[in-house]
Amino acid sequence: MAQITLDGIGHAYGGGPARSDKDYALKPLHHVWEAGKAYALLGPSGCGKTTLLNIISGLVIPSEGRLLFGDRDVTRLPTEQRNIAQVFQFPVIYDTMTVAENLAFPLKNRKVPKAKIDARVQEIAAMLDLTSDLKRRARGLTADAKQKISLGRGLVRSDVSAVLFDEPLTVIDPALKWELRSKLKEVHRALDLLMIYVTHDQTEALTFADQVVVMNEGRAVQIGTPSDLFERPAHTFVGYFIGSPGMNFLDGHISGRTITVGGHAIALGSAYPTLADDAAVKLGIRPDYATLTGSGGLPVKVRRVDDLGRRRLAHVSLGDQPMVAFVPNGLSIEGDEGRVHFDPARTHVYRDDKLVEGVAVAGLQPAYAEGSAR
Ligand code: ATP
Repeated sequence: MAQITLDGIGHAYGGGPARSDKDYALKPLHHVWEAGKAYALLGPSGCGKTTLLNIISGLVIPSEGRLLFGDRDVTRLPTEQRNIAQVFQFPVIYDTMTVAENLAFPLKNRKVPKAKIDARVQEIAAMLDLTSDLKRRARGLTADAKQKISLGRGLVRSDVSAVLFDEPLTVIDPALKWELRSKLKEVHRALDLLMIYVTHDQTEALTFADQVVVMNEGRAVQIGTPSDLFERPAHTFVGYFIGSPGMNFLDGHISGRTITVGGHAIALGSAYPTLADDAAVKLGIRPDYATLTGSGGLPVKVRRVDDLGRRRLAHVSLGDQPMVAFVPNGLSIEGDEGRVHFDPARTHVYRDDKLVEGVAVAGLQPAYAEGSAR
């Protein structure tokens, strides 16, 4: 097993090289997928996830860059010579074979000794709760069970360079989806294979992956752990896309350690020496870290409160800018007047949609004041 390196891999459909940025379905990308790790490619429809997965599997030859499996340049090699396993959206199985025969097939094909095949089939079946179905023909099984067999066929070989999953839970019933998501994570830990998982579902990506590649418009906008993406989105797109609801972004102007939003001055937890005085920025804060309070904090108009069972979220306006704030247990909201407290350690500054690195200021307490009107 080896790492996979994307060395400036980019792709424009249509045969020729990209003439401008917008010709790219996948903008050039440098990245190393480490052996044994679990990755997810996450992004909205059309962002280039499948193009990247197909480049790795060999279905698409990239218009630029090199793809290396270990030290071996596989950029132009056909799929059969890449030693990868794939699981697709819909089951790819033999209906007339039993579950055991389906699972054994990729190993039999490679002339693995029978005793080894039997042991591995038992192991994979146990991981996917298929043991009691091993002797049944695939034909009579539900769509869910058939897709589990497909997953098993993808996981049964221990010598692959990578296992690629393309939205593998699409046909799975919602209740079982929840179970299989965590199951796949367990399976990854047990099998120690490099796995790359394409999805547009953030819960699937964040549950499964050690590292998530968030893609938008053909670009990998951030590659990070689930916690990186939640706590420090590198781009406003990641802030919007990850989290439910997404991050709040408020237009403001920054001067030193103070940002003015809708006429209110907010002292920040960090200094931003790289920004010019009075620079136009966005203040980013997750709804979980903007808390509605009984008193203290910035005055807001409360438009609506959503009770989501485990938590309540208030839709408020700060000046004329809408945002969502967390409502603590026990706080009663009378009328439409409220106050919001921002956790300064969780408040980020974005310039041209990119995160600006701040320099932490020790011991700073949040402070609010009426600033010069903006
Ligand atoms: P989805 O989740 O809808 O499958 P995706 O993120 O996987 O989307 P891709 O399928 O990689 O995105 O598509 C990226 C871009 O490339 C899109 O603009 C798409 O229209 C375009 N594209 C994809 N396949 C082809 C093709 N064979 N020929 C031309 N353009 C294509």
